[in-house]
Amino acid sequence: MSKSRAWAEIDLSRIAHNVEEVRALIPATSKIMGIVKADAYGHGAVECTRALEACGVDFFGVSSVDEAVELREHGIRSEILILGYTPPQHFGLLAAHDLIQTLVDLSYAQKLDAFAAEANVTIRAHAKADTGMNRIGVTVQDGEYHIEELLAMYAMQHVQVCGIFSHFSVSDSHTADDLAFTAHQIELFERVLADLRAAGYDPGTTHLQNSYGILNYPQLSYDYVRPGLLYMGVTSDDEIAINTAPDFLPILSLKANVTMVKWLRPGDTVSYGRHFKVERPTKVATVSIGYADGLPRLISNQGIEVLLHGQRVKIIGNICMDQLMLDVTELEPVQEGDVVTLIGEDGEERVSVDAISRASHTINNETLTRITARVPRIYKK
Ligand SMILES: *Cc1c(COP(=O)(O)O)cnc(C)c1O
Repeated sequence: MSKSRAWAEIDLSRIAHNVEEVRALIPATSKIMGIVKADAYGHGAVECTRALEACGVDFFGVSSVDEAVELREHGIRSEILILGYTPPQHFGLLAAHDLIQTLVDLSYAQKLDAFAAEANVTIRAHAKADTGMNRIGVTVQDGEYHIEELLAMYAMQHVQVCGIFSHFSVSDSHTADDLAFTAHQIELFERVLADLRAAGYDPGTTHLQNSYGILNYPQLSYDYVRPGLLYMGVTSDDEIAINTAPDFLPILSLKANVTMVKWLRPGDTVSYGRHFKVERPTKVATVSIGYADGLPRLISNQGIEVLLHGQRVKIIGNICMDQLMLDVTELEPVQEGDVVTLIGEDGEERVSVDAISRASHTINNETLTRITARVPRIYKK
């Protein structure tokens, strides 16, 4: 498998396991909308979508029309919802590829309706109800409750609103304030659904929960749940407690080759800035992966461990653009071509994306999406 200097292995067979873990949490009447935006968080949108389809997932969420068209051009026929904004000059692609557009606000919906009228097409859409995230959507909150805007959307002639959703902003949190906030978001969403029904509209397909919404509020019974991270087998941050205990298997491993091994003497220093000073005779392995592959430079000099020969070894010195160095003094023998695991398993040992995210002060969502395009993705079926 080690054709390149650095590569990511994606074990698609584990997606089926993770999907079943999600299904075990949610009501039997709820279905999964696979969120495959940002190239499925760096895992490969087309490959992940196909693997999810094979598990019976029939609805996908992406962030943009370009991502949706990429799926269509690779033969994906399932429903696709664009979760974000599509610029008006690309409205034509929505009808051409039978995509569902999120309505970010009423004036946007009216523009889309006017376009569809002019083009003599019907464009399907889901309305976004903003219950507190304050990102996109019609504001339906205390004091500013614009149900009339949602009703106007549902009344449109050329845009067919066939669903409605909202988004949690603190479903990962267990503080009293945040629990109350999430409970209120649910109440507001319920109120919107009741008001639509009272006005004679069928709200259509309903969905609310992202990954933490599923993990902490699994009892909610909307038509769909919207996991991204969960089918990839990770959460945003392993230290955040969750209310359920699913058994997810991470599907991504990040690996690279040893390119050179040498001994250094006390007093020698390693890498830019000379931050690592050798104190005892030290065997150093150079590895062909760096920050231009997406490994954050911020994790340098923090004693981060990776795997080699099934054992934990430390990164030493500053991470370079294309290379980094390891202290392999305790390992015998290490040679050029040996495979280093930066995320994943080797023998009995495992290093998680979480350690890299923690050391670089971010969440796994960001670390995974930042593995760059020059790292080939290799798929295990
Ligand atoms: C990204 C996104 C999701 C998926 O989030 P995860 O935390 O990865 O599950 C769900 N819904 C919306 C609207 C999103 O933007």
